[in-house]
Order: sequence, then structure tokens, then C-alpha cells
Amino acid sequence: MSAYWDEHVETMSPAPLAELQLKRLRWTLAQAYRSPHYGTLFAEKGIQPDKIRSIEDIRRLPFTSKQDLRAQFPLGLVCVELREIIRLHSSSGTTGQATVVFHSRHDIEKWADLVSRCMHMTGVRPDDVFQNLTGYGLFTGGLGFHYGGERLGALTIPSGTGNSKRQIRLMQQFGTTVIHLIPSYAMRLMQVMEKVGVDPRRDLKLRVAFLGAEPHSEEIRQRVERYFGVEAFNSYGLSEMNGPGVAFECPRKQGMHIWEDAFLVEIIDPQSLDPIEPGQEGELVLTTLTREAMPIIRYRTSDLTRILPEVCECGRAHARLDRIKGRTDDMLIIKGVNIYPLQVEQALMEISEVGQNYLIVLERVDSVDTMRVRVEVHPDVFQEDLAHLKRLQDKITQELRNEILITPKVELVQPNSLPRSEGKAVRVEDRR
Ligand code: ADP
Ligand code: ZN
Repeated sequence: MSAYWDEHVETMSPAPLAELQLKRLRWTLAQAYRSPHYGTLFAEKGIQPDKIRSIEDIRRLPFTSKQDLRAQFPLGLVCVELREIIRLHSSSGTTGQATVVFHSRHDIEKWADLVSRCMHMTGVRPDDVFQNLTGYGLFTGGLGFHYGGERLGALTIPSGTGNSKRQIRLMQQFGTTVIHLIPSYAMRLMQVMEKVGVDPRRDLKLRVAFLGAEPHSEEIRQRVERYFGVEAFNSYGLSEMNGPGVAFECPRKQGMHIWEDAFLVEIIDPQSLDPIEPGQEGELVLTTLTREAMPIIRYRTSDLTRILPEVCECGRAHARLDRIKGRTDDMLIIKGVNIYPLQVEQALMEISEVGQNYLIVLERVDSVDTMRVRVEVHPDVFQEDLAHLKRLQDKITQELRNEILITPKVELVQPNSLPRSEGKAVRVEDRR
């Protein structure tokens, strides 16, 4: 069976791909013109879809921000009749009021196909059993992957979130081979498996895991791979661009292919809004190219990444995004130093005594901002004497200082003692 789900599109060379994008961009703009928001905006700015001559002309179009989506809530970006809309989804609301996206039947089919393409790329086939351990409902990870799994032909188990013991039982009963879950839940599931005495490498048939929806370090991937005995692939998406299925790792696991037949990619400087030098890090900006009910033009994702320069050895021409570093507003400034929570995670997870969870606490002491890192460590660490604990604490402090250039206070805590959120992990508690 072919390595490709859609060989023609996946291996398209740059020129025909750009041609396809241009055609789809014109269609998208004509479509967008019908919505109240873009209709008004384009008319004001004298933008005519049929005057778009090349992909570079995208730079003359206005950006769309999360604020625009909120201001236009609920129907301001919709360009079809209600009877053509068959579903809505919304973002998780991590950074404020959730945004809503409407889909036509065509949109749902295109989306499902993109997710199948991602899954197929990692080697998932119809004889796989796919358990989807993410939230069904307004969150896009549940239904997004569900439709992708079904379209591919895998037996798809809509297990949803939570109830870890039941999740493990389902894996045993149905011989689950592929799982999709958010990385912080994967870490939690490890603890539960340990507790109930299930060794996934011995007792389960897992071989592939999809990790997505929140920033996570390479070290987390490796821990998941080692513990579950799987190959883990990074999955990136956002509800404004459907949800999962936007960018995904191929078997090389060096960056995520972003499907350029469906999304037009730009990387900009979040301050000046100018395009950034190829290969440099900046804010990801995306334009939908195949969405009918609610196209979105130049959406500022607020996610920081870069485009990897080389062409991937897997044969797919579509650009690759580097691991997402976080959102522009995740950046912490402590004592004048810029720090991303992901840097803290990376340093911590390389230390074998460090357990599954951590929390960054920011406080203001005598009008100075300080950072405390609370770290769950393995249970046996607490069996050791105080001198040993002190050495571990010093080691963690040292490793963190090397990575983030300031010296945080490190506190070692018992496994499973830090608060856990229902959905995406909250890594920072700001008490300032
Ligand atoms: P919200 O913005 O409310 O969390 P979504 O559920 O739509 O809503 O989440 C999309 C966001 O999740 C992305 O913009 C990005 O910040 C984050 N995200 C999704 N997948 C990944 C990933 N693989 N790595 C890092 N961050 C991710
Ligand atoms: Zn590749």
C-alpha cells in the first residue's frame, strides 16, 4: 500500500503547488467577500479578489485576529446560508472568550480528509484500532480525529477524556494500537498505569501515539515513546483553522508538514507585522484555502515557530514547521530575561528523577519578580536522606539556570500533588 494518502497532492512540486494555492486563494477571497466582516473590509480597502495576481499579493490583505473573531461573534465571518452549515466548533478558550467556527458539509469532509492524511502518513491503516482520548464536544480534538480515523477506515473508539482506568480497560479489550491524547494527559496516564500494574509494553498493543493541542518538549515525546512503547507524533492545529490536521509530523519526526494545499503559510514579526527572514522564528499566520462556510484570511495564530529550510526526505513537498515554542503571550519576563515555559519543561524532563508534572509560580517579593518551580519527583526520591534531596534540588536548579539564565527557586514535591486541569495543562501560576 502506498505511503501516501493523497500522493498527487502530498508530493506536488513547488510550482504546481503555488498555482493550486493561487487558484484556491482567489476562490477563498471571493467566498470571504460574501461575509459581513470581509465584505465591508474589502470594500473599504478596495480589495478585489480577481485582481490577485500571485501568492505574494496576500501581503496586501488585512490580518484577522482573535479580537476580530470575538468582535464579529457569532456570524460576522460566515458567508453561506444557515441551511448550508452543518456544524460548529469552538476553541478551548485558553486565552479568553472562546471563538466559534462554522462548517458546511464540504468543510467537514475536507477537514476529515486532512486528518486521515496525517494519520496515514504515520503508518496508520484500516486494520488499526484507534482510541481517541480527547474531548468530544465543542473542542475540535475529539470529532476532528474521530472523523479522520473513520475516513481512513480504522476502528475508531470515541473514548473521550478522563476515567483512566476505563481507558486502559478499553485498550486491553479491543487491542488498541493507536492513541490520540494531549501530552499532559499522557503523563497522567503513565501514573495510572503504574498504579494499576499495567505495563503497556507488555500488556498492550499500542504502537502509535498522536500528541497535540498543547506545547510539549522533545523530552516529553521521548518519555511517552519509552513508556508506552510507541512512536509519538506531534500534531498541531487550532479551531480557527478547523482543528487537528493543520500540521503533523511524518515518520522522520523532524518538524511538522503543514498542508499547503489547504493553508497558506506566513511567518511574521509579531511587533512590526513584517514577513520574517526564511528560517527565522516568528508568529505563524494562516489563511484557509479550501473552507467554504467561514474562510479566514491571514489569521494571526499567536503561535511562535519557524519554517525548517530543507526539503524533507520523506518526499513530501509541503513545508515543515518547527515544534511550537508557545504563544506570543506565554513569554515570561523575569529580571529582564525572556523565558518560555517550554524551556523550563525541556530542562526538567531531561533529569531522570523528575516525575510527570511541574508548575511555575511567579511572585513579587519586595517588588522584585521571582520564579519558583515546583517539580514532582519520583516517589523513591523521598526515601533518600536529606543530603540526597538537597543534591537533586541543586542539580535541577543548575540545569534550569543553564537553560533560562536566571536562578529559580526549586521545590521538590510528591508525585501527583500538583493541581491538574481538566483540559490543557496550566504551566504558570502568576501570583504577582
Ligand atoms: P485555544 O486557543 O483556546 O487553546 P484551540 O483548542 O483551538 O483553542 O487550541 C489551539 C492552540 O493550541 C494553538 O493555537 C496552539 O497554541 C496550541 N497547540 C495546538 N497544537 C499544538 C502543538 N502540537 N504544539 C504546541 N501547541 C499546540
Ligand atoms: Zn516528511
